[in-house]
Amino acid sequence: MVRPGRLTVLAGPTAVGKGTVAADIRRRYEQIWLSVSVTTRSPRPGEEDGVHYHFVDDAEFDELAASGQLLEWAVVHGRHRYGTPRAAVEKVLAEGRPALLEIDLQGARQVRQTMPGAFFVFLKPPSLDELVRRLVGRGTEDSEERARRLRTAEVEMAAESEFDISIVNDDVLRATDELVSCMGLTPAGGSPD
Ligand code: 5GP
Repeated sequence: MVRPGRLTVLAGPTAVGKGTVAADIRRRYEQIWLSVSVTTRSPRPGEEDGVHYHFVDDAEFDELAASGQLLEWAVVHGRHRYGTPRAAVEKVLAEGRPALLEIDLQGARQVRQTMPGAFFVFLKPPSLDELVRRLVGRGTEDSEERARRLRTAEVEMAAESEFDISIVNDDVLRATDELVSCMGLTPAGGSPD
């Protein structure tokens, strides 16, 4: 299990609920520091700059990437760029706080190269059928975008073996508590294992 101050990377296929688990961490576990990524995509309704993402334009992203300010970055779903600001992660780890990155598989592979001591958690759906249901049910993407994300998801499901552990996202609160417990912390209302 993970000691506080260690970096945990949460990845998994699209629409598996990584963002929902991250939101639950933000809501119930303030002792865990959650990285805020930069992205070139536009905010969705309800998303706040600096809370859910740092929303930047292409030129700003180019500058961050070129100057080495991103720990990792990737083009996700063949469209927008997403990246993890390096300085914030290094500062939090130096302070000894548990830190969590919620990123895509390409980003997780980059972090494995640069930070081999990190702990890698694969969040998976109960089944691929359930993943498709969630992808369609979310309704935030058009049909072309959904098809693109599903193709990505099928490939990403095959990556499970690259991870230290897998957690099934059958229920968000349960999955979050399992993640927290695997990070070596005490789940809310639960006892340490
Ligand atoms: P969304 O646009 O739905 O918020 O996120 C799309 C995908 O981008 C998700 O799979 C999410 O994990 C991934 N993502 C978010 N932030 C980062 C990041 O900093 N780096 C990488 N590589 N992927 C990210």
